Amino acid sequence: MKTFYIETYGCQMNVSDSELVVSLLKDKGYKHTDNYKNSDIILVNTCAVRAKAELRVKGKLTLYKNLKKSKPDLTVGLLGCMAQRTKDKLLEQEPVLDFIVGPDAYRDLHNLIEKAEIGQRAANVILSKEETYEDIAPVRLDKNGVSAFVSISRGCDNMCSFCIVPFTRGRERSRSDKSIIEEVKDAFAKGYREVTLLGQNVDKYYFEETNFAQLLQKVANIDEKLRVRFSTSYPQDFSNELIQIMASYKNICKSIHLPVQSGSTRILEKMRRGYSREWYLDRIKAIKETLPTCSISTDIIAGFCSETDEDHKETLSLLELLKFDSAFMFKYSERPNNYAQRNYIDDVTEETKSRRLSEIIELQSKLSYQSNEKDMGKTFEILVEGTSKRSEKRLFGRNTQNKVIIFDCDKKIIGKYVNVKVTSFTQATLLGEICS
Ligand code: SF4
Repeated sequence: MKTFYIETYGCQMNVSDSELVVSLLKDKGYKHTDNYKNSDIILVNTCAVRAKAELRVKGKLTLYKNLKKSKPDLTVGLLGCMAQRTKDKLLEQEPVLDFIVGPDAYRDLHNLIEKAEIGQRAANVILSKEETYEDIAPVRLDKNGVSAFVSISRGCDNMCSFCIVPFTRGRERSRSDKSIIEEVKDAFAKGYREVTLLGQNVDKYYFEETNFAQLLQKVANIDEKLRVRFSTSYPQDFSNELIQIMASYKNICKSIHLPVQSGSTRILEKMRRGYSREWYLDRIKAIKETLPTCSISTDIIAGFCSETDEDHKETLSLLELLKFDSAFMFKYSERPNNYAQRNYIDDVTEETKSRRLSEIIELQSKLSYQSNEKDMGKTFEILVEGTSKRSEKRLFGRNTQNKVIIFDCDKKIIGKYVNVKVTSFTQATLLGEICS
């Protein structure tokens, strides 16, 4: 029985895909290992969202090249968005690689491994309009067995000008609501108490007259002890119906990740985001009116093509106005063959990108700190997820607003709901004491 090891880079969608890959290979009789040194097959599930993400992977391939010198029968395969973006060109550039497989071709993994073992290097990067892997039961890689990712759709049709995802993950397609409900019920029966519904744009989910708001309601109805989260939302498609459904169910978590990317309507047009600053403000207003305690996080890109100081100031003023609880903030990284690379010049200097990014991070850090400061003395219901990174004696969990809280307690309560009172905080984390 051959053993395989898989490491995952990038987003939650990739983590969810790695769980599918483990399931597919176990079904073919391979044994999964957590230690790459003990494995016959090493799989690297990659991200291509920024140039930096790909550089990290190239660094790791060097390590495996050296390992292969002492283990010539070792098979190394590249999976995910970087594999899809580079296709078989990377096979030429990286002799350590035995095969390359894109996000829609994981059913072919067994065949590619067998070919590699007889010295045939190959690539399968065919994108599919149908593939959702909905018949594959993922093998959960979350050690604590508390929180599970459930992908509800694959691909994206939005074509934002800076994005590589539509080229690496293909056209949008939704899984059947029946298969999603079954997967969530199975996870709940196995003791998971939280699911995160995943998609590049969950709001576009649609299967046989079931839209995303209706799917969310069906999942929430499975059991009131099951927490439900979802990611990632899209401002143009974020509906009032969804807001109402979120308000009607206590077990639908009150946290929304709604990437805005820029505060300038001119830049949003160049990004082909399909909405304006005013539209976005209106969406946030609609959310806050019905869900006043809901936390909102976002994504920001600094230094997009032709961005002026004025545009940048509009991003800062939007952050100041909306006071997001947290944000993922990046410098614009030109990606090959998307609309921006083909039509715009990456004309904002690295120095200016870095300066603007640090101004955005400085402001958002202050706002995240203030958001946590407001929680001082409050008591939250927490789903205990595991031990904190720093100490086995300290546990962590998240409140419905998706804020991490760390507190002292015995590990036996992992997977349970407890109430924790906030006694101190940092910009990134809340700290508390268990109260019952
Ligand atoms: S919504 Fe835009 S940014 Fe998000 S995955 Fe789709 S194309 Fe990329």
